[in-house]
Order: sequence, then C-alpha cells, then structure tokens
Amino acid sequence: MSPFNSVNDMILEQLAAVVSPDNLSTTQADRQLHAQDMSNHPAHLSEVVVWPTTARQVADVLRIANEQRVPVTAWGAGSSLEGNPIPLFGGIVLSTERMIDIVEVRPEDFQITVQPGIGYKDLNEKLVRYGLFFPPDPGANAAIGGMLGNNAAGSRTVKYGATKDNVLAMEVALTDGQLIRVGSHAIKQSAGYDLLHLFIGSEGTLGIITEATLQLTPVPTVMTSVFAAFPSVESAVAAVVEVRSSGLDVAALEFMDEKMADLISREGGADWGDQPALLMEVHAAHEETAALDMALIREICEELGALQFDATTDPAKRKIMWQARHHVFETQVRAFPGQRWQVLDIAVPISAFPALVSHASQTLQVYDMFGLMIGHAGDGNLHVSMPYKDEGTWQRALKINDSIVYKAIELGGTSTGEHGVGIGKAKFMAPEHGAALEVMRSLKQTLDPNGILNPGKIFPTGT
Ligand SMILES: Cc1cc2nc3c(=O)[nH]c(=O)nc-3n(C[C@H](O)[C@H](O)[C@H](O)COP(=O)(O)OP(=O)(O)OC[C@H]3O[C@@H](n4cnc5c(N)ncnc54)[C@H](O)[C@@H]3O)c2cc1C
Repeated sequence: MSPFNSVNDMILEQLAAVVSPDNLSTTQADRQLHAQDMSNHPAHLSEVVVWPTTARQVADVLRIANEQRVPVTAWGAGSSLEGNPIPLFGGIVLSTERMIDIVEVRPEDFQITVQPGIGYKDLNEKLVRYGLFFPPDPGANAAIGGMLGNNAAGSRTVKYGATKDNVLAMEVALTDGQLIRVGSHAIKQSAGYDLLHLFIGSEGTLGIITEATLQLTPVPTVMTSVFAAFPSVESAVAAVVEVRSSGLDVAALEFMDEKMADLISREGGADWGDQPALLMEVHAAHEETAALDMALIREICEELGALQFDATTDPAKRKIMWQARHHVFETQVRAFPGQRWQVLDIAVPISAFPALVSHASQTLQVYDMFGLMIGHAGDGNLHVSMPYKDEGTWQRALKINDSIVYKAIELGGTSTGEHGVGIGKAKFMAPEHGAALEVMRSLKQTLDPNGILNPGKIFPTGT
C-alpha cells in the first residue's frame, strides 16, 4: 500500500490557486510526457503536473504537498538516464519548464543568476554576447535545475569541473514552504556547513532549487580539437593516462572503443574508421601555447603507436566532431531499432582507468554480450552501452552491469560518475557508502520528514 495520499479535488483546487489553472494539468497526455526519462526504467504516471513560474509558487506547492502527504517529483528536461525524475509514487510532477528567466547577469564577476528551467544550451547561446560560457556540457539539452539535481558533468569536466564546481549560490524551496539561500557570490566560501553542495546531486530529494547563481568562464581564444586512432584499446587507454600525467591541461579527453568508432563512422556523421580512438581538445589564450600543447599530445600519441592524428582549429570541423560525440546516444538508438539500452556510468581514479576498461571488455566477452564503450576518460569516467530486446539478454546485461560497478567501487571509484543514482544505482549505495548512507538517511529525515520529495530514489529501500 502506498504511504502517500492521492491528489483529490480539494488538493487540485489548492494547487490551482497557487500556480493558476493554466499552469496545472491532469490530462493523460501531459502526465505521460512527464512519466519517463531517457532511461530504460518503466514509466509511472503522476496524478497532476504543475508548472510554477516563481520560487514562491514552488515553495507553496511543497507546503501543500507536505501537509497533504502527497509526493512531489521535480522535473527539468527529463533527459536523465537512471530514472531520476520518474514519479514512482504518482502524486505531483513539479516541472520547471516555465521557469526559464535570467534573473541577473554580472559579466564583471563572470556570474549569472537563472531560474532552474533554462536549458544549458539556450543559456550558452545567450552568453555569447558577453564572451562567457557555462562549461558543464551533458549531451542532451538538460535544464540547469536537472543538471544541479544530478550533478551532471560532460566532456569538458576534465578542465572545468562538473556542475557542482560551477555554482556559487542557490535558492531552495523546502517542504515546509520556506525558501532558503545557500552559498554566496564569493568564489571562496567557508561560512559554516556547505549546504550548497548538499543540495547539488540530491536529485530533488531534499528540496527544489528555484534559482542558481552560476560561475561562468571566458570563451577561450584558441580551441584545437584532435582525433587520434590507435591500434588497440590498451594503447588508446595508455595515451589517456600519459596525457593526464604529462600535466597538460586538456579541455576534453574522450575515449571510444573500436565498435563505437565504427558505429559513429557508419551512422553518426564523422569518419572515424574502426579503431579505438581518442577525441581531445585544448583551450588556450595564445596560438603559441596551443601549438606547444598540441606538439606534446602528438608526441605522446605517436609514441603509443597512433595510426592517425588529426588536429584542427576549424570551427566547422570541430562542430562536426563534437556533434558526433554528443549524439552517440541517439546514434545508438537509431542503429539498433526496436532495442532497449542498458547504459552504465562509472568513474575511477585516472590510474585505475586501464583496469576498469580491461575488466569491462573481459566481462562483455565472458557473457558473450555486444557492448559499446565510450567515456569522458580524462576524468576516469566510462560508459558501457548494451542493447537488448529480450528478457534473457537483459538479465545478462544486468549481471555485466553489476560486475563492472563493483569493480569500479573496488578500484576506489564510484557507481555513478555523472548520471546520478535515480532508481538504477540505488542498490549500490550501501556497498559504496557503508555507514555514511545512514548519515544521508538522517539528513533526508531532517529536511523531508514525510518523505514526499522524489520518493523511491537514491535510498535502496525507497525512503
Ligand atoms: C543523449 C544524452 C546524453 C547525455 N549525456 C550526459 C553527459 O555527458 N553527462 C551527464 O552528466 N549526463 C548526461 N546525460 C543525462 C542527463 O542529460 C543529465 O542527467 C541531466 O543532468 C538531466 O537534466 P534534466 O534537466 O533533463 O533533468 P531531469 O531528468 O528532469 O531531472 C534530473 C533530476 O533532478 C531533479 N530535479 C530537476 N529539477 C530540479 C530542481 N529545480 N531542483 C531539484 N531537483 C531537480 C529531478 O527530480 C531528477 O531527480 C545525457 C542524456 C542523454 C539523453
């Protein structure tokens, strides 16, 4: 039996009074559009979708839901890959899709304050005029609130950090209807507990972010992208470790195995042959610095037997390259019609990356399973994608999934580098965190005593 109450007419009236009837829907179509993310976890319908437009409205929705013991699941763009925004217990989906305003730009401080529903790609387009950008870049056009919810990362994390490293302050709505501010406009902050980073990556289970002040970065003057192909996975992975150990400050360092390179060459819009490969990028203020970095990268790759090494500063060529990289998920889906995907996201310290890749390859072989490997290798992050269409293949994919995740934890890494826990990784929280998981539970109990915020996520028992 559900521990929560259903959304009745009285609750619908209260919600409509807060957000206005135009910003609330109980239609099947709207609930279906907010029932499933991009993962393979089954859809669940909420009872109502609300689209608040102000922070006060978000806080009032939470207060009503808390008083009435109705679950609330925040929704950004729904592009998660672990079931993070699926409303498992029905109730209210609180979508931030109509909270897309820029609140304040402070170009002199490299800062911008935004509502949580704005997409990071849309934000970066608006920032072009200031010569600034927000570096974290998950592939899909995620909303800033969803990126904060999952602590998303991407190709540029190796240089610029994950979402958590590019946020200075936030406003958060709590279940009792309060709005609190965490963090400040200062880059250095050491005033008390770091509540800012407590909410980041909490997947809407502790509070709902209603505003965020983001740290921006000047757009680099020279951007050079590199494609390098290698004779073996081992040599490509060795180049990853060498490039990182050399002290080079690369802005992207991506690995793909030969199957992924081949797939992208056939279906994904770039001609990358069928050998294991690396994609790299260097950002510099001067041509001379870029050329020196490039010479060192070339030397490392050639010493490790690179079969091909193409460097370019041409914006059109760079665009093709990074579009092909960012669209691998869509390419996979297109190339295997009718199949579903088990997508792994694990991360380890850079020195353990070769061991992780080797374990993943062997495990795929042992289970005789087709899998594609790609990853933000520069920060030790690997994705393994396995297509399946029948129960037997899916069960094998799950066994491979478990084996690789446990290996990542054993190597000193984590069960999820960037996709978050959601539903899929909840079972690994105890092995990964041990007693610290109980501390997380008590934090959850303090901030959300009735467990209404995104129930069924992060904690294995679905607190
Ligand atoms: C093609 C593709 C490529 C991808 N590549 C990457 C990648 O490279 N790196 C990466 O990190 N991810 C990647 N992802 C996954 C996904 O884009 C990220 O997890 C992203 O952060 C999700 O953002 P969203 O706006 O879609 O959030 P949603 O999926 O809507 O929500 C994410 C979580 O945050 C919560 N949430 C949403 N808004 C708020 C809020 N205002 N306050 C508090 N909690 C909130 C939700 O409840 C949920 O738990 C990819 C996905 C796809 C489909």
